[in-house]
Amino acid sequence: MPPEAPRDDRCPGVLRPHEAADGAMVRIRVPGGQTTGTALRELGRLATEYGSGLLQLTSRGSVQVRGLPEVVPEPFEDAVARAGFLPSAAHERVRNIVASPLTGLRGGRADLRPLVARLDRALVAEPRLADLPGRFLFVLDDGRGDVAGLGCDLGYRALDAERGELLVGERRRVRPVRLGEATEALVDLALRFVERRGDAWHVRQLSEPLVEAGEGTETDLRLPSTPQPAGATGPHLVVDVPLGLLSPPQVEAVHAVADGGPVVVTPWRSLVLPDAAASRSALEAVGLVTDPDDAWSLVSACVGAPWCANGRSDTRTLAAQLVRAGGPGVRTHLSGCERRCGAPTGPHTDLVAPTRVDLAELVLARA
Ligand code: SF4
Repeated sequence: MPPEAPRDDRCPGVLRPHEAADGAMVRIRVPGGQTTGTALRELGRLATEYGSGLLQLTSRGSVQVRGLPEVVPEPFEDAVARAGFLPSAAHERVRNIVASPLTGLRGGRADLRPLVARLDRALVAEPRLADLPGRFLFVLDDGRGDVAGLGCDLGYRALDAERGELLVGERRRVRPVRLGEATEALVDLALRFVERRGDAWHVRQLSEPLVEAGEGTETDLRLPSTPQPAGATGPHLVVDVPLGLLSPPQVEAVHAVADGGPVVVTPWRSLVLPDAAASRSALEAVGLVTDPDDAWSLVSACVGAPWCANGRSDTRTLAAQLVRAGGPGVRTHLSGCERRCGAPTGPHTDLVAPTRVDLAELVLARA
């Protein structure tokens, strides 16, 4: 029997805020993480005018605005739509597409940026796909293996520039497909899921397999995802965002360095700035991390108390203390409760509701 899934899909969106302890929070989908400095700056402006001022990056490359009024003002929603983040009210929570952040820039077997755009348009164009759950995830891996292991529902993994394979759930790889046919194939499978889903939120929860045995080869896709480390990669720059929270000066610096142009939000709370390797000092000056050995590159945390009512620890403050103490030496995630929001998929030290004493022991163990 598949695990029970609640019927009520409470995934937040722009038009369906989540009530957090620090106010309403909205989640803005950024398919493939592909956006621009100008668009981020507009979100930053809206966050400052209506909310806490911070942009929060998620483990799916979405952007959240927190601290909004309980009833989110219509002008905020309208401005998000004008900035291009709300092409369809009905589909806003189903545009969950994660793609290899460096695709088309450096490495990988294929440039999947056009596929991101095509798949997003196709999702929005199909009314029946508005019924996909808000947690349903499409993953597009350009062959480097960085995102194929992120626990996709449906996906594409490039074999070369023109061919790839469809990924279905976490344990099945199906027939090879040409890149030009991938959008249609993914939409067909998504429609099949909608027809069969019942209470399921994910492909793995279906009582019957989404694809028949003859349609593909079984394989285990639960591979660790491999974040691109902070720093220069060729002419491009990866910057880690401590705690995934972009402050107004950081948003301004990103906009200035990108000259308003392309910026990629990664699923690891970092940003890729194309052709920005020479500008790292401007980003370091506002607290963004460009050194893979920086302690912040190993530390993540959920928002914790007091922003989350479930939090039993002020995880953000503790994480900052841990970094000031020299860092944990190994990848470490601090959670305010057992839900472990935003925990990395790869190996890491898992601290649930930690105290200062726990952190001191961790630092001592490193020494
Ligand atoms: S892990 Fe718990 S405390 Fe942290 S954000 Fe999630 S629900 Fe809140």
